[in-house]
Amino acid sequence: MFTCTRGDKSGRKDGTFERADFTFDTENDLYICPGGKELKQYRRAFKTPRPGANKDETIRYRARKSDCDACILKERCTPKEPQRKVTRSIYETSRDVARVLSQTQQYAISRKLRKKVEMSFAHLKRIHGLGRLRLRGPCGAHDEFLLAATAQNLKKLAKLAPNHNLIRRTV
Ligand code: SF4
Repeated sequence: MFTCTRGDKSGRKDGTFERADFTFDTENDLYICPGGKELKQYRRAFKTPRPGANKDETIRYRARKSDCDACILKERCTPKEPQRKVTRSIYETSRDVARVLSQTQQYAISRKLRKKVEMSFAHLKRIHGLGRLRLRGPCGAHDEFLLAATAQNLKKLAKLAPNHNLIRRTV
């Protein structure tokens, strides 16, 4: 079983249970509700297999009406409907993986590094005037970027020098 809810937009404001309160059972393709009952997409086998997902690329899992009728949590779960439904995107498994990855140390490092790269590009555009290329074709673009990146790296190297303030004054 696997549940991760970070970044989940399925929250509810009325105090009733949200999708995060239901546990998804990947193996059996069903949700377990806070009352311990199963929410399934289908409860019987069809001769002609159903497409599974709706047009909006979600799958609906439903509790049994008899389970909800007898449940002491019904008021907190589905006060207005006869039985509870939970929708799940067909991409939710991939989203869960991404949510878990976004909590790792490696992700924090990569985000930091990505910012640095983006800052370099912003710098090239704003300070070195690479918002528009002057030379034509891929070779021209390559040459311009190479020159600009070289200038950028030289500036960075100069900053690393112990007396970089002195260098700045003489340049
Ligand atoms: S109302 Fe239905 S879905 Fe909700 S907790 Fe009770 S049995 Fe589960």
